[in-house]
Amino acid sequence: MSNAKELKEKLMMKERRGAADYSAEVLKEADAYCEGYKRFLDHARTEREAVATVRKMAQEKGFVEFDPDHRYQPGDRVYIVNREKAIGLAVIGKNGTADGVRLAIAHIDSPRIDLKPNPLYESNGMALFKTHYYGGIKKYQWTAIPLALHGRVVKLDGTAVDIHIGDDPKDECFLITDLLPHLDKERVTQTMGKAFTGEDLNILIGSRPYDDSDEKDLIALNVMRILNERYGIEEDDFLSAELNFCPAYPTRDVGFDRSMIGGYGHDDKCCAYPSVTAIFDTELPESTCITYLTDKEETGSDGNTGMQSDFLRYFIYDLAKADGNEGYRVLSRSKCLSADVNAAFDPTFSSAYEQKNCSYINEGVVISKYTGHGGKYDTSDASAEFMGEIRFMLEKNGVKWQIGELGKVDIGGGGTIAKYVANMNVDVVDLGVAVLCMHAPFEVISKADMLMAHKAFYGLFN
Ligand code: MN
Ligand code: MN
Repeated sequence: MSNAKELKEKLMMKERRGAADYSAEVLKEADAYCEGYKRFLDHARTEREAVATVRKMAQEKGFVEFDPDHRYQPGDRVYIVNREKAIGLAVIGKNGTADGVRLAIAHIDSPRIDLKPNPLYESNGMALFKTHYYGGIKKYQWTAIPLALHGRVVKLDGTAVDIHIGDDPKDECFLITDLLPHLDKERVTQTMGKAFTGEDLNILIGSRPYDDSDEKDLIALNVMRILNERYGIEEDDFLSAELNFCPAYPTRDVGFDRSMIGGYGHDDKCCAYPSVTAIFDTELPESTCITYLTDKEETGSDGNTGMQSDFLRYFIYDLAKADGNEGYRVLSRSKCLSADVNAAFDPTFSSAYEQKNCSYINEGVVISKYTGHGGKYDTSDASAEFMGEIRFMLEKNGVKWQIGELGKVDIGGGGTIAKYVANMNVDVVDLGVAVLCMHAPFEVISKADMLMAHKAFYGLFN
């Protein structure tokens, strides 16, 4: 070996080799691991469904509902649910909360189309719903694809009805209509932001009238009749409802080699799922470990189910109190992986990325030292010390990982929940899976990267 080659191997970063770095056994393990993930994703379209699914899985794994007045022993497993939209899972450590807690936090809300409070109308032989989109979407991607309806309606008498239509291929589905290219010559010359407006995202829901009488809006009436027969609801009940339209197709393998998974809501269920399986596999950790799945990340983490709420802080304070510790001291000694996705390099759109500092599929989990925009605005920038600690933890646990900035400097930007965790005086950095087509109705991730995410969160806890 030449001197230069020898020195290069010693001093310089290794070249990217993608999935070639994984042994056949690891790839097989990843494929098997992802079967569970695909099922999870199909049952966790919305934050409510994700919470219900995770709670059921947790109960099967021996987790019991948290009681703040109970004294827990090392190895005890508890869960806590916030308004059915966020859930925490904890395994009590040998040292309890004395050395802080170890946190993995992912979000379980994903971009989608929500109904307006007063959605129903009829126009020119069709019944439609008015919508208000949720999270950052490229609006044209959500037109002319099958959509399913998920959500809850609370009636005047206080009873709640859950609605779930469209995911079963035998169900009816819905869609946002779009104009044919033949008549769209003018619009195709406009910028994307102007060509598709929020008020254009109307959902087609029916076209037959209730009867042939002279009453107005008989198609809308017929839709309401069907909803009333099935769910006992009236038009007024939309005012106290959360109804979300999500893509209606199942999670699928992608590629001839089936190395990738396509589906709706990878951001951020592809981080939520491995942080859940990692805590399931954690039996008797040194410090108390918590997986927390939060809501409202896609709209800025506001509200009482978002990461800016005090819910998680109160949960940690309760755990601390039970150990005779001060909550703020426990937080100050805690460490967190903010489990969120990053944008995987896409060769078709290479100009958006800076190729030395972006993430790639099959290169393992992505650490985003900071997110934000412009001159590192609106972000928590993880310290050299904490980066060093996490690097060591990943290497020790055989986790393939990479570093990733979200695209080129000044080209755009984004945020995660990391800064809200950092504000609680917790050491935190973003770690997650690289995603192609992020925020599209059909996002893509690598199976091998999923397994690495599981190993990373397990490594943090153990
Ligand atoms: Mn995300
Ligand atoms: Mn997102």
